[in-house]
This record gives sequence, structure tokens and C-alpha cells, in this order.
Amino acid sequence: MIDWLKRELSALIDLISPRRCVLCGQTLSESEQHLCVKCFMDLPRTGYHKAPHSFLETNYWAKIPIQRAATYFFYEETNRNILFSAKYHSKPYVGKHIARLMAQEILAESDFFHGIDLMVPIPLHTARLHLRGYNQAHYIAQGISDVTHIPICENAVVRCINNESQTRLSHAQRKENVEGIFRCVRPELLRGKHILIVDDVVTTGATTTACAQSILESLGENGEGGTTFSFLALATATPHRLPMEADSSYRYDAPL
Ligand SMILES: [Zn+2]
Repeated sequence: MIDWLKRELSALIDLISPRRCVLCGQTLSESEQHLCVKCFMDLPRTGYHKAPHSFLETNYWAKIPIQRAATYFFYEETNRNILFSAKYHSKPYVGKHIARLMAQEILAESDFFHGIDLMVPIPLHTARLHLRGYNQAHYIAQGISDVTHIPICENAVVRCINNESQTRLSHAQRKENVEGIFRCVRPELLRGKHILIVDDVVTTGATTTACAQSILESLGENGEGGTTFSFLALATATPHRLPMEADSSYRYDAPL
């Protein structure tokens, strides 16, 4: 009865305001959510979770004790609205839904989640959090947790500097810009854990590295203390796959 009511109500809402695919704008069928089947199938998967050492993982070598690093799809002009909806258009539940799909696929195809103790979504500065009203990385972590049941540790790391958006800076500026932006305030929650750092999109990996380093510093570790990291984001923006937008969103300026 309740299911029937839910379906009828959702059909009624669709009639008044049709639910549309965030990418192609087509009206969604009852079984589709946020993304139509075609756009979902067309997402350019990275397949990083299936590689023994992904291209992305090599970014972190010699910087932090990294175990695995993956993203779901390559950021392209055709799929930019997934990230934009999740980040800027007050639709964080789009990110959460795609994160669920990502986690289901990764879980079915690999051991990527094996041994991970908890997730740390890349924190927002409180000023930006108040402005936006939510942290998109937290919603992505929630989607992953729905599938994997890995707990989310929300309050161990804080962003103490509200740095400029990473997407419009050069490689060198980015590196500089992330130094010291995070502080781990609850190291006791993370000591000796295998931590999955979660974000919406990755370019150089500088933000992830800065976050992991703040944790290691707070623990007084430099790689031999048993605390290790993995990384997962919805999308990766790489030099060879990166589309140029008129506004240079997610522009990449230097080789990895
Ligand atoms: Zn579509």
C-alpha cells in the first residue's frame, strides 16, 4: 500500500514537473533516477579500480602511504553536469546516487574496498559550508557507505584555510595553495587505520595529499606508523582526456 502510494505520488509529481536526466535532459522513466540508462552506459569509465596500480595511484607514490586510488569516470564536457549538479546546483543527492552506482560497480568488479576501515570526505571550510549548505564530498561518501557499509569519519579533519577554487590555478600554484589547508583535530580516531579519502573530482591529487599529510603529521608518523590511505572520487580530469570549456573549468595546465 505504502509502495503503491509512493509510486502514485511520484508519478503525479512527474506529471506536474517531469524528472529529467541531468545530462541529456530526457524525461526519466519510473525506474531511472537522475541519469537515463543511455547516459549511464555512456559514462567513460576509468576502470582504475581493476588495475593493480592505477595511473592515479602513481601520483601519490613517495608522498603518502597509498594503497589504492580510483575514480569512476573521466571528466568530459558531456558529463560535467553530474559534478556541477552535485557541487553548485544544490543537488548533492545526484552525487550520492552516482556514488552508489560507482560503489556497486567497484564492489562487483574488484577488491578495492577490502580492508578499508573508514572514510574521510575532503572537508570544506566552514565559511564555504555555510554558503553552500552542504559538503558534496560527504554526500558521495554517504553513497559509498550505503553500498559498502564503511563508516564515515566526519569530524577528524578540518579545513582551516578557505583556499581559492583549485580548478583555475596552475599546477605550481595548486601545490602551494593546498599547503597547510587541513588540520587533523582527532588523530586518535585515525591512528593505524586504512583511510579512504573521498572527493568529487581529482586533478593533480594535491588536495588529497595535503589532507593525508595533515593526518600523518598529527599522528607524528611519516609512513611507518601503519596508517595508510586509499582514494576514491567520482571523476578524474586528466591532461589527455580533459575537455576545454569556454570558462576553463577544470583546466589542467601542467603534465602530471
Ligand atoms: Zn540522459
